[in-house]
Amino acid sequence: MSLSQLARSIAESPTLRLNEEARLLRERGEPVIHLGIGEPKNKAPISAILSTASKITQGDVKYSPTDGLPSLKKAIIRYTEDNYDKLVAPENVIVSSGAKQSIFNILFALLNPQDEVIVLAPYWVSYPEMIKMCYGVPVPVKPEDGTFYPRLSDIEKAVSPYTKAIIVNSPNNPSGAMYSEQFISEIVQFCERKGIWLLMDDIYHKLIFDGRHIISAYKYTDRDLESSKVIVINGIAKVYGMTGYRIGWAIAPREIVEIMTNVQAQTTSCVSLILQAGAEGALTGVQSVVEALRLQIQNNRDILMSEIDSFTGVRCHKPDGTFYALPDFRAYSNDSVKLSEFLLKKALVVTVPGREFGMEGHLRLSYSGTVKDVTDGLARMKWALDPNSANEIYIGDKKMVRDWL
Ligand code: PMP
Repeated sequence: MSLSQLARSIAESPTLRLNEEARLLRERGEPVIHLGIGEPKNKAPISAILSTASKITQGDVKYSPTDGLPSLKKAIIRYTEDNYDKLVAPENVIVSSGAKQSIFNILFALLNPQDEVIVLAPYWVSYPEMIKMCYGVPVPVKPEDGTFYPRLSDIEKAVSPYTKAIIVNSPNNPSGAMYSEQFISEIVQFCERKGIWLLMDDIYHKLIFDGRHIISAYKYTDRDLESSKVIVINGIAKVYGMTGYRIGWAIAPREIVEIMTNVQAQTTSCVSLILQAGAEGALTGVQSVVEALRLQIQNNRDILMSEIDSFTGVRCHKPDGTFYALPDFRAYSNDSVKLSEFLLKKALVVTVPGREFGMEGHLRLSYSGTVKDVTDGLARMKWALDPNSANEIYIGDKKMVRDWL
């Protein structure tokens, strides 16, 4: 079939594909444990539910302004002031269908064909594909050996005359690493000096552990927003556990917001009014829901780490934030795709191969589910791989005997 070469070159989203596989297995009654998806199991905050419901029952559901409902933008401005200590104007804010759409629209607004965008490995799978969709070239930079932390010197080496932007996601999907204040301050100053756009994907910024504090990139620039290269992306998906609402936003200089608004106007017109109302409810409601979620996830992280510690040969950087860990499974296989398939087949556990994130030999495990998901999931993985573990296990109500080690 004669289809667009560019569109055909775009990879399928591996996490969404795995989701679908898990759903089909579950539909067949298989007791699958999903350590693949990054999605907390909480209910949406009550304030979000109420304001969504109230918008629906009013029945007046029409188009909204392309760049977002003014009242939601007001709530985002307040959120930015409270959490970033930065006052921004409504013209600096655009609401999109998820942070994902914001990132795509920013890249679409910034890139000319062949422009390069630096992504820091391990990176979120969607960055390189989105860059390619905008005719740009993703340039991965590896972290310092044996760590998940990038070094400015390596980034400097990757910069070329074509470098248009750098994407920083901290805390990081998939590694859970949160970059140091020093690194953020250095990269902000570097980008301002060099005139390179710095996209701060802050979607996990409050899901941080062990007393860490939110880092605001604005703190390290003395430029005003209109002349700064810092663009901040955020949303309600992760911090409020409202993934299905599909609401995210970007804070950027007005000129960029204007272009993004045109792009959005010609593609999706606007974001659903009902869902924007829900997001506004979350942002203006009781904020202790965020801390409750954070504590639950930190507890899951601790349980995951203690399970992994007893896993022969597996090494894991203790996540500083997010709900992901990226343990090194090279003691069992250098092929993370095969390993992930093996675990799904034998143990009915969904994991995401590290290869998708530029980290072959690792598997991304999500601990956004229940404590039981984490403990049972890890027990099954150990049973499938670790010769030092017992060779019998119950998966659902079936007793399974390991006969391959
Ligand atoms: N950035 C990162 C690093 C993510 O992991 C995700 C979601 N998986 C997003 C952005 C997208 O967030 P949203 O659901 O708001 O589109």
